[in-house]
Amino acid sequence: MTDYRETLHGHYGQFFKIDKMLHEVRTEHQHLVIFENAKMGRVMALDGAIQTTEADEFIYHEMLTHVPILAHGAVRNVLIIGGGDGGMLREVCRHADVERITMVEIDQSVVDMCKEYLPKHSNGAYDDPRVNLVIDDGMRFIANCTETFDVIISDCPDPTGPAEVLFSEGFYQACHRCLSDDGIFVAQNGTPFLQIEEVKTTAKNIQDLFADWHFYHAAVPTYIGGSMTFAWAAKNQQTRQISLETLRKRFADTGIATGYYNADIHQAAFALPQYVLQAIGKITND
Ligand code: SAM
Repeated sequence: MTDYRETLHGHYGQFFKIDKMLHEVRTEHQHLVIFENAKMGRVMALDGAIQTTEADEFIYHEMLTHVPILAHGAVRNVLIIGGGDGGMLREVCRHADVERITMVEIDQSVVDMCKEYLPKHSNGAYDDPRVNLVIDDGMRFIANCTETFDVIISDCPDPTGPAEVLFSEGFYQACHRCLSDDGIFVAQNGTPFLQIEEVKTTAKNIQDLFADWHFYHAAVPTYIGGSMTFAWAAKNQQTRQISLETLRKRFADTGIATGYYNADIHQAAFALPQYVLQAIGKITND
């Protein structure tokens, strides 16, 4: 195999030249490939869908962590569901005020292979004493969980295979139950230009459950089809309305240097194009 051809979208796709194959295995749950590409760095794919690349992972991981954590303002306990490559964990660990981070990943092989072949993703985060790594199905974990979290991040693949259950009504209900009073749930929700059903289904599942729900977006080049949307579901109305001035101060106070996230991008990311607003039933007439 000299090229890796993504098969996620059927009639439309992307390919990566495999400059060096690093690892390929059928794990207990999925087909895992990690290879070197001269343009995008090391690339990991699961079941024919690109999961992460060294070149652009920072955009995705910064937007799914710093947006909810800085909007909340006093996060102490975080749950990550999925995230086996370790990039999400790395970004959450950069917040000194966070006291506990639980990460529930279904596939031990993904953790092990990414530690070995994508070390920059986790960058030592698994050794952070605040981290508790649980190898389990995220749905089973959250259904039986008695803990509450200030932020829950669903960093899962598209709704196929083992990840399908992480887009179910029962999953969102359990996440709602396990959020603290000002808690925020965020999740990767596909590129709406190609996967509009994903935002439609998520909107239907969260709108009656959470006091405030919406989506925000960022263009992550290797998640093809334009901007990727992130689901936002909060237990209070205030966190999404935080002023730009407050966000700027909170971000500055963290001392975190980012490649993509800043307070202005945070606020602007919640402005959605008309076709997405129509798809989620939030049509605006202006
Ligand atoms: N950024 C990627 C995307 O947007 O598709 C997701 C990256 S991360 C590698 C996805 C992780 O979710 C994988 O490690 C996969 O093993 C894990 N996963 C899939 N289904 C899961 C489940 N039911 N419970 C926990 N982890 C799951």
